[in-house]
Amino acid sequence: LPALRAGDERVARRTAGLAVWAGRLLDLVFPPRCAGCRRPGSDLCAACREEIHWQSGPACPACGRPGPATLCSACQRAPLPLDGVRSAVEFAGPVRRAVHLLKYRGRRRLAPVLAGLMIDAWPQRPLPVDLLVPVPLHPSREAARGYNQAAELARALAPALNLPCEPRALVRRRVTRPQVELSAHERRANVSDAFAADVALAGGRRVLLVDDVCTTGATLGACAQALRAAGSAGVWAYTLARAAWDPERDTTGDVLTEPV
Ligand SMILES: [Zn+2]
Ligand SMILES: [Zn+2]
Repeated sequence: LPALRAGDERVARRTAGLAVWAGRLLDLVFPPRCAGCRRPGSDLCAACREEIHWQSGPACPACGRPGPATLCSACQRAPLPLDGVRSAVEFAGPVRRAVHLLKYRGRRRLAPVLAGLMIDAWPQRPLPVDLLVPVPLHPSREAARGYNQAAELARALAPALNLPCEPRALVRRRVTRPQVELSAHERRANVSDAFAADVALAGGRRVLLVDDVCTTGATLGACAQALRAAGSAGVWAYTLARAAWDPERDTTGDVLTEPV
């Protein structure tokens, strides 16, 4: 029924347009509030920006975990199938609250604000890549959330890095349990084989995976395996934030658990 489909598309476009206008109107009526402290005036105020811990110190060259600039104990035991992981900031304080709002409260416009932190940190440790690929959500989860926060970050990041962004290069083939509260071993099993990469889009290219938070790197590792199987020439990862992880105790103590 092509006529009906065309009509549906028109309605969908009009609805999306209305949502955009409603959002703009709300922004006019209600000034932006700081994601960190809720004070009105901006999406992330100067005081909260001061609180941000940049990940600029020494770190494991493979997984990016802060510490001595040598291979960490976790990477010695089970190396990630990645060329390396970098993160802009620590997953704490205002950044943690902002990520929570972006992922679970529909505050989509925080994506370019948070991508701004990634843009600021990039020149310190740039990576030799050709293409940005966000870590995909399963389509059902993306539909529930309305967007993929990793794709939002990657889209904002791409022009600043002067690199293309290709969200279709990687798909999530099955719904996985939220990684929060799983051990490192469980995390790897949970996302193993969950992703598939497009040979035409990712083959022969050096990919920069983009995600919001890296904890053990299990999700990034599973994505990298799919990209390597599709012939990618290299796979690096760049996340907004790095969550604390104790490889000896195998825990984050993370309580940010609110899966969609
Ligand atoms: Zn603030
Ligand atoms: Zn490591």
